[in-house]
Amino acid sequence: MKRPWNTYSDYLVSRYGQRVYRVSVDAGLSCPNRDAAGRGGCAFCDGTGARAVHLREEERDLEKADGILLTDKCDIAGQIERGLAYIRRRYRSRLAMLYFQSWSNTNAPVERLKTIYDSALLHHDFVSLIVSTRPDLVPDQVCDLLASYITPDRDVWVELGLQSADDRTLSLLGRGHDCASYAAAAERLRARGIKVCTHLMILPCYEGAGAAAGSARLVSECGTDAVKIHNLSLCNGTRLLDDYRTLGCYPVLSLRRHVETVALMLANLDPRIIVERLMSEMTSQRCVNPRLFPDKREVLEQIAVYMEERGWVQGCLR
Ligand code: SF4
Repeated sequence: MKRPWNTYSDYLVSRYGQRVYRVSVDAGLSCPNRDAAGRGGCAFCDGTGARAVHLREEERDLEKADGILLTDKCDIAGQIERGLAYIRRRYRSRLAMLYFQSWSNTNAPVERLKTIYDSALLHHDFVSLIVSTRPDLVPDQVCDLLASYITPDRDVWVELGLQSADDRTLSLLGRGHDCASYAAAAERLRARGIKVCTHLMILPCYEGAGAAAGSARLVSECGTDAVKIHNLSLCNGTRLLDDYRTLGCYPVLSLRRHVETVALMLANLDPRIIVERLMSEMTSQRCVNPRLFPDKREVLEQIAVYMEERGWVQGCLR
């Protein structure tokens, strides 16, 4: 069924003629928001650095279930070979995107970044290089380096964590950057032909659905090429878990509220923006809240039905 939003799978098929899968890599670059004395990281950060499930030692059962065995998470060559083998075996696909997913993947001197990216790209003709990082970690030099990897056969994407378009919320979350820093980063990247994917969060207790819609409008104005929308979970080892009682409300949305808020965000999002993700999938080992959502397919179906019942499509409320 055609979704009332601009799906990532449609984009991949129109761009490459087929679905393309990601090889996720942990380059061990950590994050300045956790490392800097006194900053302590984002309230919701559990210290896994958004590492892919198969790269997390503490979730070895899932790792085995995926058939991928990993001995050294910073052995980039090994991670790539195992990821490629998995994609070939599971999807019978040769096309792949290289995804520096974990932590802040521009958190090093530019010479070191060049060594890391250069050697990783030697392993395969990746159709995309995707680098996930923070808005305050993409100075001109890093943007120039990333732009140097663009070729007719390879796109470069940078995934920027913004989470909210409200500076007060960003401050409460301890993000360590503001909206202006995001807008400037998106402009620097896009001026060089680098595509931008922005991560947003639905943040009950910090802001309402109207603010979430405002986040969709801000990233539309800043020209992001894609978005990933996440729901908040109460994860072990987070400040959020320690602090949520003082917030006076429970920061985890019900499925119904999630569906309503995502639909409102999509209705306020530029229809040209590719929608890569509409929910986070946390393993039970990581979060303490009960699992409130069914599987992803069912959640997407509910969002689509909710929008169709109202005659909504992506961007209709802009
Ligand atoms: S930017 Fe990412 S890795 Fe860094 S503290 Fe925040 S959530 Fe954690």
